[in-house]
Amino acid sequence: MNRPTNKIVIVGAGECGARAAFALREKGYEGDIALIGAEPHLPYERPPLSKDGLAGQFGPKYVADAERYQSAGIKVLTDATVEAIDRGAKTVRIVDGRQLSYDKLLLATGARPRPLSGLPQTAPLIRMLRTHADAAAIRSKIAPGKVLAIIGGGFIGLELAATARKLGADVVLLEGLPRVLSRGVPEEIAAVVAERHRLEGVDIRCNASIAGIEEREDKVEIKLADGGILVADLVVIGIGAVPNTALAEAAGLAIDNGIAVDERLCTLDPDIFAAGDCCSYPLRHYDNRRIRLEAWRNAQDQGTLAAANLMGAAETIASVPWFWSDQYDLTLQIAGLADGAVMTVQRDLGDGAFILFHLDANGRLISASGIGTGNAIARDIRLAEMLIAAGKTPDPQALGSIDTKLKALLAA
Ligand code: FAD
Repeated sequence: MNRPTNKIVIVGAGECGARAAFALREKGYEGDIALIGAEPHLPYERPPLSKDGLAGQFGPKYVADAERYQSAGIKVLTDATVEAIDRGAKTVRIVDGRQLSYDKLLLATGARPRPLSGLPQTAPLIRMLRTHADAAAIRSKIAPGKVLAIIGGGFIGLELAATARKLGADVVLLEGLPRVLSRGVPEEIAAVVAERHRLEGVDIRCNASIAGIEEREDKVEIKLADGGILVADLVVIGIGAVPNTALAEAAGLAIDNGIAVDERLCTLDPDIFAAGDCCSYPLRHYDNRRIRLEAWRNAQDQGTLAAANLMGAAETIASVPWFWSDQYDLTLQIAGLADGAVMTVQRDLGDGAFILFHLDANGRLISASGIGTGNAIARDIRLAEMLIAAGKTPDPQALGSIDTKLKALLAA
């Protein structure tokens, strides 16, 4: 017979774990909640680490302060890495030997930066960016006149480049592929981003291949495969992230580009769920294709959904993937997944802002990506998200015309 759920343990005190903990209380759960995190801080927001958080007043932007956890009756254990799960005994063991038992367990272990194979990863002047500690180390080396070399033209590398320019550093960005943002961002939008970085003085070098990196006293030397040598004060490697799955794997859970969960975020163990950057899940709007997202809102949405299901509900993932990035005064947003698109329609919103709508062979809207200053694109992307979720097949001409309100297409 199933025991009533009275003890919930959450491993991973990041965006997702914290949201799940609060959502449990909001949904009326009255039992114990333990939120266990490896980092020394209470859960904090990662997006500011490459943006304003790095440039401005420096300190973690907490999801909630200590008092809120206390008044919600959420026990937060910081500096506590969980090293093993005993599924038979239903316990987790922390490296310092402490053991906690659970009725239901949520794994929200997130992701870590992808290492650059065959090259040194972490030396004082060779860094990656995931945690507040990483950001603090990077921030201490960025100053006017210093040279920052960034390896990888993805979101984090480009956001860091924009922030470092604001702080007066010289920035060289090395990208191995022919263009920046080649993963999931249309070429037209990547071109706007790259052009803006060039205007701001970022030296973007595409098709760059790294042969070696070496620290020499207070400088780093990057040897390029074409024989060139780049000397920098700091190198930051930003070539993507890999999910933290070791704990789940050692416990015998299925791994498939992340901890594999079903549409309720449940692993193959009915008492263990996983959510956020660490898990891969079947996406209803895209023929149940299994995906893994590294996105802030997804971490929040899945934290909330996991809370409901930890309490015995059977809710399924309904949200459309959504991501944003800020660089200078530009905001880029992407809703849905564009691979599988056979047609793209552009809608110009004025002042250089535009949205690209991507439709599949059945005329269904599957993705929308936009770029503009401030929140020029926000409303239309939000409506596009609703069109995608509703499985709409809007008239492409209407999508492209500013005279047609997207709200009208939703109602159609
Ligand atoms: P995480 O935030 O990674 O939290 C997981 C936590 O679990 C970590 O603290 C980790 O230490 C802990 N942990 C792991 N294993 C264990 C263990 N065994 N025991 C105890 N604790 C453990 N997304 C956007 O949509 N837009 C953006 O602009 C954006 N900008 C970003 C900028 C940066 C610099 C970074 C790093 C990410 C950015 N993201 C952005 C992504 C977003 O922050 C993540 O999707 C989100 O943080 C994922 O939350 P999470 O809780 O799943 O994982």
